[in-house]
Amino acid sequence: MKIAVVRERVDGEPRVAATPETIAKLIGFGASVSVEKGAGEASRILDRQYKDAGAGVEATAAAAVKDADVILAVRRPEASTLAGAARGAVVLAIADPYGNERALAALAKAGLSIFAMELMPRITRAQVMDVLSSQANLAGYQAVIDAAMAYDRALPMMMTAAGTVRAAKAFVMGAGVAGLQAIATAKRLGAAVSATDVRAAAGEQVESLGAKFIMTDALKDASGTGGYARELTKDEQAAQAELVSGHIAKQDIVITTALIPGRPAPKLVTKAMVESMAPGSVIVDLAAERGGNVELTLPGKVIVHNNVTIIGTLNLQGKIAATASQLYAKNLLAFLETMIDKDAKALKPDWEDELVKATLLTRDGAVVHPNFAGASPAASVAKKSTAAKAAPKALAKTGAASKTAKPAAAKASAAKPAAAKVPAKKASAKKPAAKPAAATAKRPAARKPAAKKDGGQ
Ligand code: NAD
Repeated sequence: MKIAVVRERVDGEPRVAATPETIAKLIGFGASVSVEKGAGEASRILDRQYKDAGAGVEATAAAAVKDADVILAVRRPEASTLAGAARGAVVLAIADPYGNERALAALAKAGLSIFAMELMPRITRAQVMDVLSSQANLAGYQAVIDAAMAYDRALPMMMTAAGTVRAAKAFVMGAGVAGLQAIATAKRLGAAVSATDVRAAAGEQVESLGAKFIMTDALKDASGTGGYARELTKDEQAAQAELVSGHIAKQDIVITTALIPGRPAPKLVTKAMVESMAPGSVIVDLAAERGGNVELTLPGKVIVHNNVTIIGTLNLQGKIAATASQLYAKNLLAFLETMIDKDAKALKPDWEDELVKATLLTRDGAVVHPNFAGASPAASVAKKSTAAKAAPKALAKTGAASKTAKPAAAKASAAKPAAAKVPAKKASAKKPAAKPAAATAKRPAARKPAAKKDGGQ
């Protein structure tokens, strides 16, 4: 059983799919591992460290993947990069299948079995394989670090001989995985933190982290299926906007993370709201990848509007690539381990396993995932123009698929009375319902984002 790790080819992707630690484990399962030269460099893992863990380091991708049974990657590799792999080789990656039918068809044609790690069901058994959670958690952390770097004032309250510095006010919109970590990080840095979400169950989790939960009585609990949010009605949107607009005007830092499965990111912060903020305020829009929660966000850019910095940087977790790779590699290892017969020291996926069925995109020369089956290069060209419309539909199906597998955290919260509405009182439960990783706030290597006036970087 040969496992290959390829260098990432997408610009600005510094993560890597295996670490010396995960490689040592794979070798322990009877595999031989080949790593493409320089694959871990941007995550601070040197070729020498891979060698010390027992891997071979190859000068090219072609040499690394030659006859490989498994290929590990962060982004979906091109079929051409994987030429020479064993027929039927398994590829684990964040495959980004929506609107990419042509690439899927090419991988299928090459005889590869590609798994989309981001389609992993959010059930208890698969928590350790959940790349969305492991990476969103880090993005939430990094959002606060970026905000702190761009904010020209201190975050904590300081009582000094020269006077008192007030604590910065931070507001987190959307208290899912990323939002909860953003709340925890902003608290650790000393900010006065408030947060909102449209799922009432999130209130208890927000308060357990010591932040104030903001919600309006006019907004009914908008929990959808699988612990996700549903889209708000027009009236609910108006009620939320009214609540939020007064609050945002008083904030120094706003971090938005709100997403709804299968829909573009809801627009929560209007231009007028941005203009109501004090000079020097900072907004980090973690939903930038899905269009943004802020009307003015330019995905991938940092802009300044009316003296307010709006950070739309993508792949924020990539800014702490060493940590992101460490967790991502563990996610892959955990999933791959379920496919390895340790006695036979061979790859033996159980094609009927629910995790395999939920994530497998291509097999035996065809696209097999129900959301994409039938994809072919020709079909892809025809579909390309409608990709934007098709994607939400397909995503919605994925959200629905998790209906029966309600996330544990959501279940626990649902069993309790709905969280108090605003202004919310302290939740009675002292124990945090959600357990954000106990990250120690540290200064990142990342530099202060270069801000440009309304133009981006
Ligand atoms: P997400 O990325 O889909 O959305 C982020 C947050 O935005 C959510 O909390 C959502 O309710 C909120 N939101 C949506 N519209 C909003 C609006 N208009 N205003 C304010 N907030 C809005 O969510 P996620 O981080 O993937 O988490 C979704 C759920 O899944 C949560 O309940 C989480 O606890 C649960 N979860 C479970 C597991 C597991 O059990 N394996 C793992 C991860 C997450």
